[in-house]
Parts: sequence; C-alpha cells; structure tokens
Amino acid sequence: MTIKNKVVVITGASSGIGEASAKLLASSGAKVVLGARRAARLQTITDDIKRNGGQAIYRVTDVTHPNDLAALVDAAQQEFGGLDVIFNNAGIMPTSPISALKTDEWNEMVDINLKGVLNGVAAVMPTFTKQKSGQIITTSSVAGIKSFPGAGVYGATKFAVRNLMEVIRTESAQEGTNIRTATLYPAAINTELLSTISDQQALSGMQQLYSAVGITPDAIARVVAFAIDQPVEVNVNEFTIYPTKQA
Ligand code: NDP
Repeated sequence: MTIKNKVVVITGASSGIGEASAKLLASSGAKVVLGARRAARLQTITDDIKRNGGQAIYRVTDVTHPNDLAALVDAAQQEFGGLDVIFNNAGIMPTSPISALKTDEWNEMVDINLKGVLNGVAAVMPTFTKQKSGQIITTSSVAGIKSFPGAGVYGATKFAVRNLMEVIRTESAQEGTNIRTATLYPAAINTELLSTISDQQALSGMQQLYSAVGITPDAIARVVAFAIDQPVEVNVNEFTIYPTKQA
C-alpha cells in the first residue's frame, strides 16, 4: 500500500511545510487530517483540497494539549476508518542568544517543538502498537544535527526529537511492530516561521539568509511523500534538505 488511501494526520498544517505536504499527499490520494490552531486557515486549505478532488478534514489543535492530539487522531479514525501516518510538524523558531534570557520563548519551544511531538507520538502509539504498523514522520531541523549561535534552545528541541525518533525506530525493530520513522532536517525553507522571531538582530540575520537562498516548502512535501510511498519493510528514516545555494 503506497500513498493512495493512507490516512495521514498532519500537525502544523495551517501554513508552510504542513500545508504543502497536506496538499501534495491529498493530490496523491491520501486522506489527510489537518491540525493547527488557526481555524480559518485550516478551513481554506481543506476547501482547496476538496475542490481539487482530494479528501481532507481538519480539527483545531494545539499540540501542547494532549487531548487535542488525541481528538485529532480520533477524528481521523472516525472519518476515514484508519490511521497510517502522523506527521509531527508543528513548530516555532524564536531564536535569540542565550544571554538574552528569553525564558518564556524557551518554554514555549520546549512545549511545542518537543512536548508537542511527544503528544503526537502518545496519541498514535496505542493504535500503531495494536495494528503492528504505522509511520511517524517528524520535522526536526538542520539545527537538530548542527549547533548554530542563536539556536541554543530551538536546536535543543530539535536534537531531542532526533533522539526520540531514532529510539522509536530501534524499539519498533526490536518489538517487531513495523512502526517506521522518518526525521526531516530542513535548512532554509520560505514559510511563515520567521514571524516567530522576536529578537530583531536574529530576525534580520535570518531574513537575509532566507531571502538569499530559501526554497519553497514543496521541497519538503516531496520528501514526506517519498517516505510514505516506501513499502512497509523499507524505513527511509533521515533526510537533510538544503537549498542548493545554502552553504
Ligand atoms: P510555519 O510557521 O509556516 O508553520 C508552522 C506551523 O506550526 C503552523 O501551521 C502553525 O499553525 C503550527 N503551530 C505552531 N504552534 C502550534 C501549536 N501550539 N499547536 C499546533 N500547531 C502549531 O513554519 P514551517 O512550515 O517552516 O514550520 C514547520 C516545521 O518545520 C517546524 O517544526 C519548524 O521548526 C520546522 N523547520 C522549518 C524550517 C524552515 O526553514 N522553514 C527549517 C527547519 C525546520 P498555527 O499557528 O495555526 O497553530
């Protein structure tokens, strides 16, 4: 079974990488279930997908609330009668030097980028364990494999999900459950992500980089589709995606 008819839950689906992935997967025949906080954006994207002949629903979801993730996964099963993939993609990137002590933003990143992924994993794991199959795809970042000044806490959350995903992969192999994992490490992708940066110096540095080299989120959507499209015995589990022009 490839992408067609797979039920795919996507967090952070109201813009950027999540939106692009939802649209591409739906156009390939997946049944997509969109979660994020902005209802109006989710409604518009869902309408677009349906107008183009795809199947999609959405639920307003805050990934910091375990019950929201549980409800999103439940909606997928109620509406589409199954659950094949969760794409843990919601995230924010308010970068700043550690010395600026933006501790509220540190906590927010831990809550969304790390605990949000844990909440997604917890929501699907009972079903995946029972059916002995499923796929967990998570958006980390190049800041999850390399250390960048300004990305101390952002990178910490992204390193953390990398470890989490690798452990899920190895435990699944040991337990014989066929649960596959894929971790994505994108570099500069032009989305709304920079709007989460409050530190003006960090923001202007990022704006310069992104306007010089950034690529569109479709690049990541194609990788997500590739990972889902593999046969069950094949786990393509790590992808680093750079713009060709980014050093
Ligand atoms: P966007 O800002 O366009 O998308 C972020 C998405 O996350 C939005 O849909 C937003 O929706 C959602 N989100 C944020 N907080 C929450 C929350 N508490 N609950 C539910 N959804 C939430 O940026 P990207 O598409 O770029 O970001 C997607 C992922 O890619 C993130 O994890 C980011 O860290 C990662 N990434 C991005 C890179 C880039 O260069 N763009 C590079 C490397 C990694 P809403 O506000 O409606 O809730």
